[in-house]
Amino acid sequence: MILEDRAALVTGASRGIGRAAALALSRAGSRVAVNYSASKEAALGVVEEIKSAGGEAFAVQADVSRAADAAKMVSEVLERYGRLDILVNNAGITRDNLLLRLSEDSWDAVLDTNLKGVYNCLRAAARPMLKQRFGRVVNLASVAGLMASPGQVNYSAAKAGVIALTRTLAREFGSRNITVNAVAPGFIETDMTRELPGEARESYLKRIALERFGRPEEVAEVIVFLVSPAAGYITGQTVVVDGGLSI
Ligand code: NAP
Repeated sequence: MILEDRAALVTGASRGIGRAAALALSRAGSRVAVNYSASKEAALGVVEEIKSAGGEAFAVQADVSRAADAAKMVSEVLERYGRLDILVNNAGITRDNLLLRLSEDSWDAVLDTNLKGVYNCLRAAARPMLKQRFGRVVNLASVAGLMASPGQVNYSAAKAGVIALTRTLAREFGSRNITVNAVAPGFIETDMTRELPGEARESYLKRIALERFGRPEEVAEVIVFLVSPAAGYITGQTVVVDGGLSI
C-alpha cells in the first residue's frame, strides 16, 4: 500500500488507460476520484469495482475543456477527501485527418480537451498542492508528441504541448515538492485505437519491437510508479511506454 492515505484525481477514468490508472492507484492504497465526461454508467462501474475490492472512490462529472467544470471537480475532491495529492491528466480525444481536410472544429476540440484541459485541471489543483507542499502530477502525452504522426497534426501538437508544459511546470513547482511528469504511450488497446482501420493497425504493429499492442494496465503501472515514493526524485520527464514503437 505505497499510496496509503493519498487522494487522487484521474481525468477520463471511465474507460481505457484512465480506468486502468484509477484501479491501479486504488490497489496501491489511494482514494480515487473517477472523472468522466459523458460515460456515467462506465464511471460508476469503475467506482463499484474499486469499492468491491475494498477501496474508496467516487465518480465526478466534468468536461475538462471547461475551466469552470475543472474547478468544480477539484472542489468536490477537496470536499470529499480534504486534500489532493495525485492528479492524472488523462482525458483525451482524437479527431484525425490530413491537414487539408482537418476542420477548425477538429483542431479546436483536440487542443481544448488534450492541452487546455490539462491547463484547466492544473490551474484548479495547483493551489491545494502548493499549500500541502506535496503533489504528484502525471500528464498523458503520446509518442505522437515526440515523432511525426501523419493525420494527427492537431493531436501531435497538443501532445507536444503537454510534454513542454510538463517540463516547464516541473521547474515552477519543484521547490514545493511537487513532481510533474508525463507518460507517452504508443499503441494501446482502448476505444481510441479500436476505431483505427485494419491497415493502420497492421502498419503500427510492424514497427513495434515487442510485436504486440500495449494494454492499458501496462501504462497504469508506470503512472503508479511515477506517483510513488520510489520516483520521488524524478520530475519533468516523459516516460515512453510503447513496446519499442518509437526507437
Ligand atoms: P479512451 O479509451 O478513448 O478514453 C478516453 C477517456 O477520456 C474517457 O474516459 C472519456 O470520458 C474521457 N474524456 C474525453 N473527453 C473528455 C473531456 N472533455 N472531459 C473529461 N473526460 C473526457 O482513451 P485512451 O486510449 O484510454 O486514452 C487516454 C489518454 O492516453 C488520452 O490522453 C490519450 O490521448 C492518451 N494516449 C492513448 C494512446 C492509445 O493508444 N490508446 C496512445 C497515446 C496516448 P467519457 O467516457 O465520459 O467520454
